[in-house]
Amino acid sequence: MPIDATLPYDASNIFARILRGEIPNRTVYEDEHVLAFHDINPQAPTHVLVIPKGAYVSWDDFSVRASEAEIAGFIRAVGKIAREAGLVEHGYRLLANIGQHAGQEVPHLHIHIFAGAPLGPMLAR
Ligand code: AMP
Repeated sequence: MPIDATLPYDASNIFARILRGEIPNRTVYEDEHVLAFHDINPQAPTHVLVIPKGAYVSWDDFSVRASEAEIAGFIRAVGKIAREAGLVEHGYRLLANIGQHAGQEVPHLHIHIFAGAPLGPMLAR
C-alpha cells in the first residue's frame, strides 16, 4: 500500500530500522548525512537507494525541514555515489516517489539510482 506522505514520521519504518542497524543492508556508501545501499528487489542492473540519516518522510518533508548542511550533503552524496560507481559515462536515472499517486512504499525519503542498461520511457504508459 502506498503511504500517505502527509503523516508524521514513523520511526518503525524499514529504513529507520536499517539506519539503527536492526536490519542488514548491502552498503554502497555512508557518511555523516547519508546511507546508500542496494535495493533488495532491483529494477535495473544497478539499483541503489540513497537515504538521509535524518528522520524525513519524503522529499516534501525534507525540503521543508532539513538543514542546509543536510540538503547539501544529500544532494552531493547522490552525485558522488553515481560518479564513483562509474555511472556518468553511460548515464543513470534518479527517482523519488512522494506519497500515494507516486506509489511510495517506505515512509523515509529515498532516492532511487537506476543504471546499467537503457532504462526505457520515463513513465509506464
Ligand atoms: P518506493 O516504492 O519508492 O517507496 O521504494 C521502496 C524501495 O525499497 C523498493 O524498491 C524496495 O524494493 C526497497 N526495499 C524495501 N525493503 C528493503 C530492504 N530491506 N533493503 C533494501 N531495499 C528495500
